[in-house]
Amino acid sequence: MLESLWRTADCPACRQPGARVLLWLVKCRNTICRHFDNALSQSLPGAPGPLAGAPASAPPSQAPSLLGGLLRALSGTFEPAPADAIDIRYRNHKGEEKVFRGSKTSLRVAGRHITLCVAPKGSRISLTRDRILNLPAVEPAIPPGPYPDRKERRILLHGDPCSARYEELEKKFPDWE
Ligand SMILES: [Zn+2]
Repeated sequence: MLESLWRTADCPACRQPGARVLLWLVKCRNTICRHFDNALSQSLPGAPGPLAGAPASAPPSQAPSLLGGLLRALSGTFEPAPADAIDIRYRNHKGEEKVFRGSKTSLRVAGRHITLCVAPKGSRISLTRDRILNLPAVEPAIPPGPYPDRKERRILLHGDPCSARYEELEKKFPDWE
């Protein structure tokens, strides 16, 4: 009953609209006002104040990191099993020494290059044989051929797994990945 006596008006102290006034009592939504009333600021969505403002501003600041996490989860990560892992020490064209962690079973010879799938994304990189600093450790780990050619690789990677051609290639290159 008493609640109905409160009227909404501009705050007499700070002129903030939406203040609740009863005789000499004032409840104001302005956080820096001497009449500031926390319950009032929370009861009115969109009212200025730290508690009313926080939920509105939180989702936009969280969205990019949530999206980033989702994208990372979708894109997947590649970490070779310990028994399958090989570290390749490589000197790039700038003379910098890099270490690539990849999977032994994905090692392939391609002319003067050696290719393999590396962490953290599983992308296949091509390394110049002459620039591999630990080549004596890498070469014995390369699985023996034969390897599918470019056309056969495309079918194995993107072809219809139920087609006769795909099944034929899968039999021909059972270990290829
Ligand atoms: Zn006020």
